[in-house]
Amino acid sequence: MKLSVIVPCYNEEECIKAFYAAYKKAFSDTDYKRELIFVNDGSTDGTLSLLKKIYLKSEESINIISFSRNFGKEAAMYAGLKAAKGEYICFIDADLQQRPELIVKMVSLLEKHREYDCIATYSRSSKTQDKLTALFKSSFYKIMGKMSGMDFVDGASDFRCFRRNMADAILSVSEYHRFTKGLFAWVGFNTRYVPYEVASREGGSSKWTIGQLFSYSFNGIMAFSNKPLRWPLYFGLPVSVFGFLYLIFYLIFALSMNRDFSPIAVLLALLIFFSGAILTSIGILGEYVGKIHTQVKNRPIYIASEVYKTEDKAENTEIIEFQLEYEAQKEQRIKKKKEKFKEKRRKEKIKEEIELQKQQLEAAQLEEEKKRKKQQKKAKKSNEAEQEPVTVPEDEGYSAGPEAEFEDEE
Ligand code: UDP
Ligand code: MG
Repeated sequence: MKLSVIVPCYNEEECIKAFYAAYKKAFSDTDYKRELIFVNDGSTDGTLSLLKKIYLKSEESINIISFSRNFGKEAAMYAGLKAAKGEYICFIDADLQQRPELIVKMVSLLEKHREYDCIATYSRSSKTQDKLTALFKSSFYKIMGKMSGMDFVDGASDFRCFRRNMADAILSVSEYHRFTKGLFAWVGFNTRYVPYEVASREGGSSKWTIGQLFSYSFNGIMAFSNKPLRWPLYFGLPVSVFGFLYLIFYLIFALSMNRDFSPIAVLLALLIFFSGAILTSIGILGEYVGKIHTQVKNRPIYIASEVYKTEDKAENTEIIEFQLEYEAQKEQRIKKKKEKFKEKRRKEKIKEEIELQKQQLEAAQLEEEKKRKKQQKKAKKSNEAEQEPVTVPEDEGYSAGPEAEFEDEE
């Protein structure tokens, strides 16, 4: 089996038919063996009946897992993953917000690039979401990344296609409170993120309310970070030290000044000290609870992506040789690309320099031209001035002028 497509469905009677039609159309040009796994997550509408009809009518491989009640999308994805037999596995929603055609592209990307174990999508636009939800989601990914120390891509969705090795790794994590996006980040491997446009729902409405999103986020943080358990320690310890120092300073001050002890001041210092001490103890307890929490989740201690045993050397030789050859080719391709890029940059730089010199030359020529014209104008003016005859007006020059008249009056 080449591909397993897992579709969690909860009250999706308005979308199932359209989804199946789109799925069939998307794969019409491909001939690889595939299976479709519908997980009915305790729907209360006609979803299950519709799924059964498709199951009966269809000639292709279709599986239905129907839950006894609503266990949530995370449980549905886990059930689908457990049943999947494909070499590649894909999660997709039933509401057609994620287009099945993209699965074909993701599979071909995985086939072309052996270095990727998973092709995950992140939503490019949030047109279908209100601003508050979009803000809530992006803040959540930031907080989650900081608290867990793992990489969480903003807008990353469960719509992804991955190899069997990654599916096995996810299945080996059998904790009850699942947060699949976190698990994908936790198990490691090489994931490539591609953007996708979130379409509007085929029918029905989103199953998430702000309250549910909040609880989902809270679960995610709880499952991947023990940091909140340390907060009382971080807060309590300095408070306790402050209370202690306050008490000591107050006693030294009162004794050296020969003053009576104020019971209120002493009580306040003791109160601060003990409040801090209680918080510190809770923090220390939290450290232990955190360790128990990690142990109880029973996650594997490590996940190996490749293992080569001596006894399998004969079988592995061909694979390893192929991989090494592939790596060498890839390196060479990257090197060539880098050289090409460098050469392009060099040529661009030369072009820029030539352009700059051209501009400078033009500016200099313009300046020169301006100067020349100025000089010509000056020369013309002085020439004209030399040729002009000096004429003295008849009634001017030798008359006494107004000053003289004034003097005369005096
Ligand atoms: N879903 C599910 N169980 C639930 C809630 C949702 O299996 O309890 C399925 C739902 O049928 C859909 C997918 O999970 O196929 C995504 O749900 P939804 O569209 O409500 O989420 P959104 O796209 O708004 O994030
Ligand atoms: Mg949806």
